[in-house]
Amino acid sequence: MEQILLKNVEGTKLADIKNYTAVGGYESAKKAMTSMTIAQIIDEVKKSGLRGRGGAGFPAGMKWDFVPKDFKGPRHLCCNADEGEPGTFKDRELLEKNPHLLIEGMIIASYAIGAELSFIYIRGEFVKAANTLEAAIAQARKQGFLGEKIFGTDKKVDIIVHRGAGAYICGEETALIESIEGERGNPRVRPPFPAVVGVFGKPTVVNNVETLAAVPSIIKNSGQWYAAIGVPPKNTGSKLYAVSGHVNKPGVYELPMGTSLKDLIYNYAGGIKNNKQLKGVIPGGSSTPVLLPEEIGVSMDFDSLAKAGSMLGSAAVIVMDEDVCTVEESLRLSEFYAHESCGQCTPCREGTVWMTKILDRIEHGQGVQGDVELLERVSANIMGNTLCPLGDAAAMMMLGFLKKFKAEFAQHIQMGKCPVNKK
Ligand code: SF4
Repeated sequence: MEQILLKNVEGTKLADIKNYTAVGGYESAKKAMTSMTIAQIIDEVKKSGLRGRGGAGFPAGMKWDFVPKDFKGPRHLCCNADEGEPGTFKDRELLEKNPHLLIEGMIIASYAIGAELSFIYIRGEFVKAANTLEAAIAQARKQGFLGEKIFGTDKKVDIIVHRGAGAYICGEETALIESIEGERGNPRVRPPFPAVVGVFGKPTVVNNVETLAAVPSIIKNSGQWYAAIGVPPKNTGSKLYAVSGHVNKPGVYELPMGTSLKDLIYNYAGGIKNNKQLKGVIPGGSSTPVLLPEEIGVSMDFDSLAKAGSMLGSAAVIVMDEDVCTVEESLRLSEFYAHESCGQCTPCREGTVWMTKILDRIEHGQGVQGDVELLERVSANIMGNTLCPLGDAAAMMMLGFLKKFKAEFAQHIQMGKCPVNKK
């Protein structure tokens, strides 16, 4: 498959608008703005089968179509660049190396939903990416691709980069909206959904970086062309897979949606480091249930991973070798979720801390009989009982480890020490 998102990123400095336009950059935005109707653009994106790359996998064209057509007044597009899930680093690759592709996708999406002012909400720690984006936006404005009367039309689209302050929860779309409005990033109760009541009370579409970056290629080549890549009809296009952990070649790989996890680990990421045995793989960011070595034949797409009892999520593949202690691993992740909980819902606020405390005592040789069952009960009581997906994420991670590595947890308690780490 020819690369779509990472094409030319190595060797060509695409963050410079001269280089980006030299390889056909902004031609799709021009085509959309000067020769296509809003309905045609949305139709093309629907035909492509493009699903949200932030984790939820919701069809992008359908999301754009939800914005009320009869609403009089401003509406907004927000690009979610608050990439903060442990193991996830695929959007950063685009933000730092191909910012104009995102800007071009945003111009098209903004036009399609009738937004004249759009936002990129970027993780506070992404200083380099934010600076790169701001410089790229300034270049695009200078060229007449952003601002008033773009591409010689009477249309206006502008983009503001909004830097976050470091809270993982602001990657949740309603918390992101609160944060843009200057409030503490607490998730909102839904409904109303952002498509109806979003930023500053106006209809708002929130899309992930990778989702928006796929749009120019769809407008250039057609929805049908994009839909033929991957596993049609529901898992189409290319996908950025971020592989980390105990592999020889960690990195971001753009491959067709549905590439096998085994292929990704052994062919692209060079296999397990130091010829160790594989112990487990988290396939889609830290919240997605862990898979065992015998399960890695799975196709890396939304539906296949759901069938396998996990999720594609952000497609952040965390590879663990035989020396990993799954109690320690789940403790680290549980600490992360407890720290990042916004505290609004009791099951998440209290449950993630309880999980962490139980794991901490098991890890330090002070676990007691019944702790595994207690962890299961606490996780099950978080699941489905919270306002936003952070609580579910913590519970899913925990239940996944308990399902696949229960014996190791029990052994920890029995032995009063880690059976894996010899430290
Ligand atoms: Fe906040 Fe957790 Fe509730 Fe989400 S689930 S709203 S992070 S307390």
